[in-house]
Amino acid sequence: MVKRFGDNTVLDNLNFTVSHGERVTLIGPSGSGKTTILRLVMTLEELTDGYIYVGGTPLQYEQQGGKRARIPDKRRRRTTTDIGMVFQHFNLFPNMTVLENVIEAPIHVMGLSKDEAVAKAEALLDQVGMAWKKDARPSELSGGQQQRIAIARALAMDPEILLLDEVTSALDPELVGEVLGVLKDIAAETDISMLIVTHEMQFARDVSDRVMMFDQGSIVEEGKPDKIFSEPEHQRTRDFLRAVL
Ligand code: ATP
Repeated sequence: MVKRFGDNTVLDNLNFTVSHGERVTLIGPSGSGKTTILRLVMTLEELTDGYIYVGGTPLQYEQQGGKRARIPDKRRRRTTTDIGMVFQHFNLFPNMTVLENVIEAPIHVMGLSKDEAVAKAEALLDQVGMAWKKDARPSELSGGQQQRIAIARALAMDPEILLLDEVTSALDPELVGEVLGVLKDIAAETDISMLIVTHEMQFARDVSDRVMMFDQGSIVEEGKPDKIFSEPEHQRTRDFLRAVL
């Protein structure tokens, strides 16, 4: 895939695959294109060239008669239920309760009945330890609590792949552990694929099957976390890890 913003080439012929159930973490310096990759997979950004496939289906755009064209609505809708994303700043609907935040998309996008959506939401809120706050508004909750609800909301769509974009970066340090703990449990208990951007290197080490080191829109090196963190081959990876660890 290629992504340019104006004449700034952010991703240059990038090519990688995430297997079913695999947890892949992207690390690398600020501005290397990590968040852009997640936004492209979520179809919040448009690719300049190339394709992204989720479960064999190309996302958002396909080549038609030499022109890039939007794919039909039906397929586009399907992609939104295949992919869940949790953002740095939670992005909960502020005017809705916790429960309403979690049932919104299952009812309106997946077509679940309200009773089905509520039962599912309550189970997920329980899983992230937030069932007791289901009638609260996001503004009444700590950042860590809001982020746990954002995780439940993403999971409520049964995503094949969960995108985690620096989900602890906006949290006070004492709240980071509770969010990472929830994610570690989900990683242990489900087979959801995960594409993770994080500055939490211990978390990356604990949950990843594979770590990819990025710089300037290209993969510098990739491998199992033990190898990348303990025996990086490239000087750029060594420099980056020295700066962040
Ligand atoms: P960080 O760790 O700081 O979040 P990152 O590796 O996630 O960095 P990106 O946010 O993907 O990096 O940004 C990669 C490059 O793309 C940067 O040069 C950034 O300025 C540019 N960029 C990202 N989004 C846009 C946009 N909407 N318009 C123009 N340029 C953008």
